[in-house]
This record gives sequence, structure tokens and C-alpha cells, in this order.
Amino acid sequence: MGDELGRLESAGADYVHIDVMDGCFCPQLTVGPAVIAALRTRLRKDVHLMIEDPLDKVGAYLDAGADMLTFHVEATRHPHRVLQALGPSVTRGIALNPGTPVEVLQPLLDDVELVLVLAVNPGWGGQRFAPNTERRLTAIRELIDHSGRSVMVGVDGGVTRENVGSIAAMGVDLIVAGSAVFDGGDAVANLRQLRAGVGR
Ligand code: ZN
Repeated sequence: MGDELGRLESAGADYVHIDVMDGCFCPQLTVGPAVIAALRTRLRKDVHLMIEDPLDKVGAYLDAGADMLTFHVEATRHPHRVLQALGPSVTRGIALNPGTPVEVLQPLLDDVELVLVLAVNPGWGGQRFAPNTERRLTAIRELIDHSGRSVMVGVDGGVTRENVGSIAAMGVDLIVAGSAVFDGGDAVANLRQLRAGVGR
């Protein structure tokens, strides 16, 4: 994994995005803080928590070296409290599933640096980019404009080498790609094709 990350780093990757799934919030189980801490890379670690009740768990991910830490607003009754627990030393992100109304973000925007919009439901394979995503992105950018803060907007899920250009044109700051990079073929070539598709 370290070798692979090194090659992607030299090919221009901006971050390594790590999907943490707990088998409760979503069906799959992936990795936890120990694996994140062990990842040797100079890339910034962008940790996406798809776990229930993140409040008591975010500390372990901060200790594991997360540079960006995103949790799901659906996973906690106290999203504002989680943001307080994260504090200003990390880039704080809030993620929204495709079925969650975007208005839930409004009271939280003073305390986040990233809104991550899921274009698929997390943990179930084989889904396509949800068509309502573009409309949701527009509504989220309006909320951010009203907040007067500078908040990044990211998209996660359903990204392919074919649709990445049209996703970039929706006005996002960050695009997460999984199988569009790691498809069993040449990950570096795939990443370069993705970056070319967004003019990078
Ligand atoms: Zn993710």
C-alpha cells in the first residue's frame, strides 16, 4: 500500500482518501485508526468516517494522523458537539448521504471547512452517480454563500474516468475517486487520466 501511495503521490494525487466503515452505519467493514496511523505517505490523510456515534471515536483518528476528518451528519444526534470535539487543528468535514436534506448543514457551517456530498449510498457496491447530486450541490453552495464562510465542497461516490469532467463542471473543490483509480490496471495512468479530465 505504501508503494502504491508513493506512485500516486508522484503522479500528482492531492490527498489519500480513506473510507472508514464500521459494518453498522453502512454494511462494509474497512479499516480503523491503527491502519491509518501505519500508512506511510507524504500525502495528506483525508479520513472519511462512515461509523455510528463518532463523538467518542474521533479522538483516535486525530491521534492516527488524520489531516482532514469527515463524519456523517446522519451518524450522530450531536453533529455540532462532534465539530467542537474535532477543534481547529484538523480540517473538519461533514458528509451527507444522498437522501439527507441539505438544510441540516445550515447551523453547522460556522464550524466546518468541508462539506462532502455522497453521490451513492455508502457501502453498497455497483451504484451509479445519483442524478440528484447536481441539484444538491447547487443548494449547498447557496447555503455556504449565505454563511459568508469559505467552505470546500467535495463529491464522493460514483466517480468514473468518463464522468469526472462533468462533475468538475458542477463546481466542486474536491473529487474522491476509488475504483476509477484502483481498477486492477495501471493506477498511475488512471489518476493521470482523471486529472486531465478536470484540467489538472
Ligand atoms: Zn469516502
